[in-house]
Amino acid sequence: MARNRENSRALYDRALSVMPAGVNSSVRATQPYPTFVRSGDGAHVIDHDGNRYLDYVMGYGPLLLGHDMPESVAAAVQRAASEGPMYGAPTEVEVDLAEFVVRHVPSVEMIRFVNSGTEATVSAVRLARGHTGRNKIVVMQGGYHGAQESTLVEGDAEHPRPSTSGIPQSFAEHTLPVPFNDEEALREVFERHGDDIACVLTEPILGNSGIVMPEEGYHEAIRETCDEYGALYVLDEVITGFRVGGLGCAQGKFGVTPDVTTFGKIVGGGFPVGAIGGRSEIIEQFSPSGDVFQSGTFSGHPVTMAAGLATLEFCAENDVYDHVNALGERLREGLTDIVADRAPEYTVVGTDSMFKVVFGRANTGPQSDCCSAGCRQDPTCERSPDCPKTGADVADGETQRWDRLFRPFMEEQGILLPANQMESQFVS
Ligand code: PMP
Repeated sequence: MARNRENSRALYDRALSVMPAGVNSSVRATQPYPTFVRSGDGAHVIDHDGNRYLDYVMGYGPLLLGHDMPESVAAAVQRAASEGPMYGAPTEVEVDLAEFVVRHVPSVEMIRFVNSGTEATVSAVRLARGHTGRNKIVVMQGGYHGAQESTLVEGDAEHPRPSTSGIPQSFAEHTLPVPFNDEEALREVFERHGDDIACVLTEPILGNSGIVMPEEGYHEAIRETCDEYGALYVLDEVITGFRVGGLGCAQGKFGVTPDVTTFGKIVGGGFPVGAIGGRSEIIEQFSPSGDVFQSGTFSGHPVTMAAGLATLEFCAENDVYDHVNALGERLREGLTDIVADRAPEYTVVGTDSMFKVVFGRANTGPQSDCCSAGCRQDPTCERSPDCPKTGADVADGETQRWDRLFRPFMEEQGILLPANQMESQFVS
């Protein structure tokens, strides 16, 4: 029997009258109506009709520890909130969290905290432009860096165009999208525009086009190309930061050193956050020490900083990453077996605590040569011959299967997944 979800439907009706599409973030407007969550409980959420779901959305990334705050985190949050919500003056906990990040992420010597991943990437792009005196930025097709003017751009480097209305074509012209994992395309764009390129802005793993892993050597190629042309290498670790590669982040796992890193999600312990970190000489160009304006009423919010610090300290003191990554691996292996048996045209992708099943063009095109051989048999290999290489490999697949199978089917089984093929999923 179908679950009773009348209260969600009624809330959606109310929401539709007062909020566009009834939501405050586009991805939440799932059809025919969203599941309105009342509370969280460990790896589960409970909706307004009392239905319980195993949650793999996990807030779209911030909730590494699931929905229950460890005692130390809850106490830190309550203490910070009870002392007054915020001040507009510096506080000790900002220094503590900054020191923690600097201690664990070698490329980060200084950091500025902001309020969202979007704000972090907006500021990072402004910083790269200010630092280099150049206007253009290189991004990955299928990459995502939040709701910002410079990166909501599609097409290719010769024909970039805004991916949404409300952005002038003249803005999009400064953004050069290239395919992920394509060293040749990267070199070409630098050969043509190198003197005008302020930065390459990329996620270490595409986390908003299913999940696309970098091929061996790709990030090194970005690093080298940026060095050659005097552009900054800006790594967007909003999803991967303090998730993939543990406290050293994805850059530690892949052994690359960006000039600037953007953070969000986990570093705020479940509260609104973003951050821009990197070499001191670059980060100090933010105002007022430098001339790249950057400011924010809520930046370094004491409750967020307390939650972020207590969360990361909990991770440092407990075997959080071993545990959650083992769960991720077990889930990916199980899914891989099922898919191989029942639907070999699907591909299970992911690493650490990230996973997704993509309905890509697997088995239909030439197999990628990124992997020596037969790594489907090797569970430690994170790239099967069918793994997507670019955002387009996922986007051009049968993404509509997601709506047909997963929304009505999985949710009815009590499993909450993101609403589309593109958003990454997380174990906690
Ligand atoms: N960068 C990446 C890689 C992201 O995945 C996201 C959001 N999922 C953002 C930036 C934007 O972060 P926010 O939604 O906090 O603005």
